[in-house]
Amino acid sequence: MTRHAPDSSLDPPPKAHPRRLFWAWWKRQSPAHQDRFATFAPLLSVLLFLAAIITAFWYLRNEEFEREQESVKRDTEIAQQQIRLRLIENQEQLVRMAREVATHAIDLDEFLGQAVSFARERPEVVSLSWIDADQSVKARHTSPNYPGDLMHWADPVSAASAPESPAVPAASAPVALRGEPAWAFAAARDLRQPVYSRPYEGSGALSVFQVHVPLIDRSAFSGTLVAEYSVESLLRYFVPAEVTRRHAISLLDSNDRVLASSVSREPANGAHSSNGIVQDVALAPSGNGLVVRGQGWRTSIGLIGNTLFWMVVALSALTVWMLLGTWRHMRRRSQMQSTLVTETNFRRAMENSMLTGMRAMDLEGRISYVNPAFCAMTGFAEDELIGRLPPFPHWPPDRMEENTRLLQQELQGRSPAGGIEVKIMRKDGTLFDARMYVSPLIDAKGHQTGWMTSMTNITEAKRIRDQLSASHERFTTVLEGLEAAVSVLSVAQGELLFANRSYRLWFGADSQGHARLAGADEALAARRDADESVDSFGGLPAQELTEASSDAHEVFIESLQKWFDVRARYVQWTDGRLAQMLIATDITARRRAEEQASHQAEKAQVTSRLVTMGEMASSVAHELNQPLTAITNYCNGMVSRVKSDAIEKDDLIAALEKTARQAHRAGQIIHRIRAFVKRSEPQRQTAKARDIVEDAVDLAGIELKRRNVHIHTYIAQRLPDLQVDPILIEQVLLNLLKNAAEAIDHAKLPPSRRHIELRVVPRHTPEEGGVIEFSVRDNGPGVKEEMMARLYEAFFSTKADGLGIGLSLCRSIVESHRGRIRAENLYNGPVISGCSFAFTLPVELPVPATETHGVTLTETS
Ligand code: ADP
Repeated sequence: MTRHAPDSSLDPPPKAHPRRLFWAWWKRQSPAHQDRFATFAPLLSVLLFLAAIITAFWYLRNEEFEREQESVKRDTEIAQQQIRLRLIENQEQLVRMAREVATHAIDLDEFLGQAVSFARERPEVVSLSWIDADQSVKARHTSPNYPGDLMHWADPVSAASAPESPAVPAASAPVALRGEPAWAFAAARDLRQPVYSRPYEGSGALSVFQVHVPLIDRSAFSGTLVAEYSVESLLRYFVPAEVTRRHAISLLDSNDRVLASSVSREPANGAHSSNGIVQDVALAPSGNGLVVRGQGWRTSIGLIGNTLFWMVVALSALTVWMLLGTWRHMRRRSQMQSTLVTETNFRRAMENSMLTGMRAMDLEGRISYVNPAFCAMTGFAEDELIGRLPPFPHWPPDRMEENTRLLQQELQGRSPAGGIEVKIMRKDGTLFDARMYVSPLIDAKGHQTGWMTSMTNITEAKRIRDQLSASHERFTTVLEGLEAAVSVLSVAQGELLFANRSYRLWFGADSQGHARLAGADEALAARRDADESVDSFGGLPAQELTEASSDAHEVFIESLQKWFDVRARYVQWTDGRLAQMLIATDITARRRAEEQASHQAEKAQVTSRLVTMGEMASSVAHELNQPLTAITNYCNGMVSRVKSDAIEKDDLIAALEKTARQAHRAGQIIHRIRAFVKRSEPQRQTAKARDIVEDAVDLAGIELKRRNVHIHTYIAQRLPDLQVDPILIEQVLLNLLKNAAEAIDHAKLPPSRRHIELRVVPRHTPEEGGVIEFSVRDNGPGVKEEMMARLYEAFFSTKADGLGIGLSLCRSIVESHRGRIRAENLYNGPVISGCSFAFTLPVELPVPATETHGVTLTETS
């Protein structure tokens, strides 16, 4: 770096090329500035051009004007000189003639001869006259073309006849000259030299003027020679034609009145207009006030100049206007361009970020464009695809024919709108499924230039679809194979949305079967009755209905003679509609089995009662024996006392009453046993727990007494009524009491511990609600843990003579009353001190929580 510094200082300074400088400056400007310069520079140059044109026009006009002025001046002077020269020449000739006349060198005739030749050679002279000193015309010659005579400038003094020929000696009658001629005559007489009159109007409205040349003979004035000039002829004959061609030449009198002019009309802009070129020259030395005026003939200079000038101005204005227009147009274009750039960038970004592959082809099928997604999908680079003609590299080799056919279809515009499914081969040879959509590629002019193909990879979608259809197939197979009828009914429309094979088999394809199965469903029934337009579930969120647990009920379909277990639940159907789904399982067989079972259970109950009674037979016999023995004793006693007449009437009555009471007691025992054993249909009725307990304890009492077991009964007060079959509940209690007594007996307990406790209390549990609990406790050996689970099995017994159906029946009776039965051991520390069997029966009314007000009912032994 340090080494470069001295080297660079040796380099010649870079040449400041103006173009390079300009570009350097231009690049330093911001784009906005560049735009402004690009806009205003042409405007400025147009204005400068306009200014230059104006200056040039102004200069050229001035130049032209000066040259024209010069030329007018020169031509006017030429005209003046020509006329003047002629006048002087004529004057000399006249002076010579006057001398000859005055000296009488020529006589009258010779004068006339000279006059004729004089006039003939001079067309400007209209007449030549010889006037005496007394103003009488001695001789006169008039140009044949001149209509006038002396009469127009002199009044005849006497009645002299006018001369008839143009050149005749006059009658010498004196005339009185008037006007200009009179003045000129007097001046010539007085000055004794030729005098020119001022122009005046001659005969025939011709402008004329005269020259009077005095006739002096030895200093005596003897008259004048008068030559009359036509002003117009002077102009016509003595101004050169090239002068009159160039400019307008006129002769004016002292009053600026035009007497004769080379043009019939004044130039348009007038002699006195500011820009007209006018040159006046006096026709001296005549001094008669005649003026030669030259006038710029070509007045068009200004006109043409002006026209050009205004055209340039107008064109410049047009250019400026167009520039401004272009500028505005450019601004619009640049705005459009920036919008277009934004749009293009947006589209490019969109195109690059999208996952759909895009491919454009021309009408021959040559690939003209692929987007990055297409390249990413196929694995081919852009330049490997663009410009390719079919067969394309992404066509699988084994599907060439198919792809060619599809491409032909594509190029003919016959591709289906829903797209076509094709196999695409990646560069690495792997295949994938793609869906292609084809649409025509239209250019800005509306012509089709090719085809645009979009492609999506549907391998995953296809796999999912296949899986879905497989799973759907499985699902349908399962549903179709189900023994149960499955049906879905839309709640709002009552339309059958789905029905499986079993349903169709049993109910056909209509919704009637669904309705019959759902018969117990009140909601649906209500809906069916309601007005069709009212959706009874309208206010219910489908979510809550569908989340509600399915409810089950059993329906008997008469026409099919079948029982169905119907489970209904609300579901949201695939289209979001609320629908009811029913699964109806044919339970006819189970139902029959159940019926049979219950039939048999009933029989078993009766049998069980009989068995119980059979077991209790000796106890019953013993029990009956007592009143019968008592009756016998009473009867025997009464007989012997009646025989011996040793009885009083009152005593007899008392003895008979006692006998009757004993008989009644025996009858009661038999009645109770009969009622218990009598086979009857289970009948639910309102019953009081106290009554059931009393009856059961009475029945059991016989057995207990036999086994020497005491019972201690506790019944809570104000117990609600039960809805039960009292005989069956009695049977349960009797069984439990019998088992307890047997257990005590089996344990061979001492008399002090041989007692059972029966408690009847109200209870309220969260699972069961309000119930009445019956519990039987004993001090027996309890139940072994491993036996606990098997207690309720039918024919399970630990007793040598036991049938093992007692507890099994108990449970089915309790459960048929929606109650529960349970057994538990009682402990005294770690030792089992007894056993408790308890069952519950539900009650409708809330059970008072008090159980302290119970009373001990009985204590029997
Ligand atoms: P069975 O009395 O004919 O044996 P159960 O069904 O009434 O039939 O009783 C089944 C079994 O339950 C009895 O064999 C006995 O082992 C047991 N068991 C019943 N009650 C009691 C009890 N209070 N104490 C101990 N074991 C009992």
